[in-house]
This record gives sequence, structure tokens and C-alpha cells, in this order.
Amino acid sequence: MSVENVLVVGGGISGTVAAVALAQKGVRATLVEISPEWYGVGHGITVQGNALRVFNEIGALDKMLESGLGFDNLTLFHADGSVINAMDAPKMGGADLPSTMGALRSDLQEVLVGMIHDLGVEVRLGTSMEKFEDKGDSVDVKFNDGSVENFDLVIAADGIKSNTRKMLGSKHDKKGTGLGIWRVVTKRTQDMTCSAVCYFGDEYKAGYTPISEDLCYAYVLTKPERPDNGLSDAQEMKRLLSSYHGHFDFIRENIREDDYMNFQPIEWLFIEDEPWHQGRVIAIGDAVHACPPLIAQGAAQCAEDAYVLADYITRDGDMEQLLTEFTKVRKERVKIVVDASMQLVEWEIHPETPGANPGMLMGQAMGALTAPAF
Ligand SMILES: Cc1cc2nc3c(=O)[nH]c(=O)nc-3n(C[C@H](O)[C@H](O)[C@H](O)COP(=O)(O)OP(=O)(O)OC[C@H]3O[C@@H](n4cnc5c(N)ncnc54)[C@H](O)[C@@H]3O)c2cc1C
Repeated sequence: MSVENVLVVGGGISGTVAAVALAQKGVRATLVEISPEWYGVGHGITVQGNALRVFNEIGALDKMLESGLGFDNLTLFHADGSVINAMDAPKMGGADLPSTMGALRSDLQEVLVGMIHDLGVEVRLGTSMEKFEDKGDSVDVKFNDGSVENFDLVIAADGIKSNTRKMLGSKHDKKGTGLGIWRVVTKRTQDMTCSAVCYFGDEYKAGYTPISEDLCYAYVLTKPERPDNGLSDAQEMKRLLSSYHGHFDFIRENIREDDYMNFQPIEWLFIEDEPWHQGRVIAIGDAVHACPPLIAQGAAQCAEDAYVLADYITRDGDMEQLLTEFTKVRKERVKIVVDASMQLVEWEIHPETPGANPGMLMGQAMGALTAPAF
């Protein structure tokens, strides 16, 4: 095995899946997370089949499905509540797994963190990597407490604001997409049984995913700035959803001030023309490709990165070559998602574009992703 002692920087989906997958292969993994407390944010998430396949491979999926909700279809609605199309969603994780799972991010995180502790991964909270020095066949890392340790390899999974990306010398940084998103976790009705997207209302679009027996995660895509209109978050979200009907009447009426809710501009990043590694430090996940959530694939690509990387770095062979091959394979797959998502962003903002066909593009991208990543 090429590595025995790996540092993982960041405890989001990329970092936790990497640490679990490495520990399961007998690698001593140490995970550092800058936050002093480690908990997943309370938002809902749409997890597609290719991510479920990763979670299944590491033995996390059954536990995740105890709190989340698996389903196999997708409904497109007109803003007036009428159905445009009710369809089967592509089985991107294979025929045996649900095509999609709706879940609370904190529930996914709890399962992964539980596995990390069970597997004996050393976790250090409130800790970050300040500096690294590549030693050829290992890396010296200086932490924020001043200590220095040596690792066979460092996996930087420190998210879209990655500091490691800068340390690796990247000229790229995250950019705005021109869209903003409001999200809320709120009550659902029993007939909201799969993800839904609602078109032709006053905002770019709205949608929801059921995440448990009685809750859903709902969103509205809108302009990238929150207007200074004196409204509370709940009032603003209700205002933005006012032209959407059908299930959205229930969602709107039930949004409460103390529901988990937030607004953020949507940003993106894709490091395509630079390596993701330098010596024995490699960045994965949102640190190198933050996909706008137009086809809900960001976390799925992160989970795939982490699982595939754990496989590559535990193979015998030259590490430079293994990391170069890993990056090539992953860039090709991530590019499908980033290119489709950015085209969808463009068509949301300029729906009058000749040839704009979001449904067809989403279908093509998802179809391409049914090819297994590993
Ligand atoms: C609005 C929105 C909706 C989305 N919806 C979906 C969806 O429905 N489905 C989907 O698949 N994807 C979705 N995504 C994408 C998905 O959330 C991300 O791709 C994914 O969570 C990124 O995971 P990550 O582990 O790479 O990064 P992060 O989750 O950002 O984790 C990085 C971690 O590193 C830590 N960290 C940062 N710096 C340091 C440091 N110096 N030292 C140590 N630790 C550090 C951070 O505290 C954090 O815990 C969405 C994204 C957005 C913005």
C-alpha cells in the first residue's frame, strides 16, 4: 500500500467519506476540522443515486435511510399547481438503490461521524492546517497550534472557501452565478412523495424534496441579492413563493419564523486547467469544484471524489502518477455536472435564449452520470 498515515483537512461530506473509506482500508486517518463544534448544518439535501452508491459501499446507506426518505421519481409542475410531467428519475446508483434520497444534512453527518469514531479515526476539532512542506515521499504539516507532524499524504477537503487551494497555488477562486437561493425545512403533506420542480412562476423556479415522514426541504431560486424590504426571512420567502401554487400553497402557509431557513447567493468553481495536487497534497470536493445545485449533484461528486481517491492512493504504484490519473478521471466526470449546471444557470437567467431546453439537458447529464464512477 502506498500510504499508511493520511491527514484529511475538513469534515464535510468530502472529508468524512474520505476518512471512513481510508480507515476501512486499514489506513491511519487523522481528520482536522476548523470548527470547534462538529455538526452538519440543518438544511435538507437531495442525494442522488450515485452518492447513495458511495454511501452503500462504505456501509452508511441503511442507517441514512432510517431517517431520510428514498424514492424513484420526479414531478415537474406548472406554477399553477398542474403537472407538466411525472417521470421516473434515472437510477444513477444502479437498479438496486433508490434513484434519490431526501435527507437532513445533519442526519447524514451524524451517520458519517458515528462511523469515523467507530473506525478509530483521530478527529481534532478547532484545528486547521497552517502550512505544509512537501518532502517528496511525505508531507510536514504545521497546524494552528504550532505543532508540526509528518503524513504520507494530505487530502484537502476544506470546501469552496478552501485555504489549501490557495496554498496549492491556484489562480482560481469562487465566483457568483447570478442566482440566489432561499431554502427552508418545513412541513409537508403526505402526497409530496418525491422531488418536485415548479416552473413559470415569478421567480426563476421553486422546488421541494421530502426528507422525512412529515418534513420537506423547499427552495426558491431568485436574484442573487436579498432586497432591503423590511420583511423577515419567513415573510420574504412567502412573498417569493406567492406565485407558486399546488403543494406550494401548503408550504407557504406553514413556513414559520423559527423554521430552519436561509438565503445565499449561489457561487461556483471548477479547477479544470490546473492540477488538483502538488506533491503529496491533493484537494477534492468543493475545494476544486463547487457545482451550482441546478441538478443537485454537488455532494454526490464530492462523495465520489472521496471514495475514488481512497481507492487510488491505496494502490501500489507511483503516487504522482496515481494522483494524476485520479484527477483526470474525476475532472471528466465533474465537468459533465459543472457544464450542465452552468448552462442551466444561463437559461434560468435568459430563458429566451434560442435552443434553451433545460429538461433535455438535465436528462442528458443525468443519463451520462448513470455510467458508474468506480
Ligand atoms: C444552496 C446549495 C444547495 C445545495 N444542494 C445540494 C443538493 O441538494 N444535493 C447535492 O448533492 N449537493 C448540493 N449542494 C452542494 C453540496 O452542498 C456541496 O457540494 C458539498 O456539501 C461540499 O462538501 P465538501 O465536504 O467538499 O465541503 P464543505 O461541506 O464546505 O466542508 C468543508 C469543511 O472543511 C472545514 N474547513 C474549512 N477550512 C478548513 C481548514 N482550514 N482546516 C480545517 N477544516 C476546514 C469546514 O468547516 C467544513 O466543515 C448544494 C450547495 C448549495 C450551495
